[in-house]
Amino acid sequence: MAVINENFLKLPSNYLFPEINRRVSDFRAENPGAEVISLGLGDVTRPLTPAIVEAMQKAVRGMSRQETFFGYGPPQGYDFLANTILENEYLNRGIKFSRDEIFISDGAKCDVTNIQEIFGQNNIVAVTDPYFPLYVDSNVMAGRTGLVNKNGQYEKMVYLPCSVENSFVPELPQSKVDLIYLCFPNNPTGIVLAKSELKRWIDFAKKNKAIILFDAAYEAYIREPDIPHSIYEIDGAKEVAIEIRSFSKTAGFTGLRCGYTIIPKQLVAFKTTGEKIEVNPIWYRRQTTKFNGASYITQVGAAAVYTEEGKKQSREIIDRYMENAYHIRKHLTKLGYSVYGGSNAPYLWMKTPDGKSSWEYFDFLLNRANLVCTPGAGFGSQGEGYVRLSTFTSPTDVNEAMKRFAKL
Ligand code: PLP
Repeated sequence: MAVINENFLKLPSNYLFPEINRRVSDFRAENPGAEVISLGLGDVTRPLTPAIVEAMQKAVRGMSRQETFFGYGPPQGYDFLANTILENEYLNRGIKFSRDEIFISDGAKCDVTNIQEIFGQNNIVAVTDPYFPLYVDSNVMAGRTGLVNKNGQYEKMVYLPCSVENSFVPELPQSKVDLIYLCFPNNPTGIVLAKSELKRWIDFAKKNKAIILFDAAYEAYIREPDIPHSIYEIDGAKEVAIEIRSFSKTAGFTGLRCGYTIIPKQLVAFKTTGEKIEVNPIWYRRQTTKFNGASYITQVGAAAVYTEEGKKQSREIIDRYMENAYHIRKHLTKLGYSVYGGSNAPYLWMKTPDGKSSWEYFDFLLNRANLVCTPGAGFGSQGEGYVRLSTFTSPTDVNEAMKRFAKL
């Protein structure tokens, strides 16, 4: 008898985005003439830059010739990309890593969900609430939680509320935790942490022998000079943090797929006996068994992000998204809405007016203004009463959306 992994049965089946798509397609079917504008997208809308495309075209042509054909690549990525990232993202900020401390992957989603696998079953996991759902779901699948309660929270999981009361900055845990997911700039709130705030987390992790899993998928959107782009900008982070990044939102790789994870050599976890174990070789062992590397062509494209032209072109796209953020925030604030984030992130976090629930407001916006947002309740119990607005759209659509808000 083949027995199923019953942990999967703990997960609710109505995942956020399919439900949004269902409601939007029902609405379109009933209102064929309606011009629906989406401020709900978590996917980029601008195409790849010429620097990336040209580099990949050259790589494709190379693959057609015997002498420049590449088969299986190294599971931890090609040196040319790894070294380029280390130089441009870390050494530039005075942070040194050796080649074997970085692992190239096919995107942050796999790393963010697979990383828990190398840690023991009994670790207590903490997430900030609202949270990116993959952090919770991957630990539920792995059996690290109990059942879900009526608020959508799992037994044994520690939720750190981020609300207007604490300016959406999580407080340190009051109970024992071993693995802590932090995501800054945050999806969905768009909030960032200052160096001093991150330092508190590093000190906490050191004191409690915990490990921080730092998701920096949106670091390229940081605009304020004092906000750290990497957790390793803070002293001591190499001993307690893993950083995960992605080319998805930095350079439009959501379809191509490329990301990377840094696991410093200093980082240790423990055996149940208390003996220290280096984490880096364990992840290396995991990756070489279960992953065959991102495609050569994609990695050539990712390396092109760091050429002079590549940097300039990617920067222009991000600037465009951030101009959208600026306009949305300015207009909605002027109209009296409470809007947060959006200064160092492509997302804004808006309080629903008149005490509406997230889904009530989603339906209201769709029906009254033909606008799509993302209900905050889909990101955890603290997201109830909020919606996430995304800036991955055109300035024309932003202008039109703001006019519709003004008429509500
Ligand atoms: N982490 C966060 C916070 C995200 O928002 C996303 C994608 O939306 C990811 C990770 C996954 O990124 P990728 O496309 O690299 O898998």
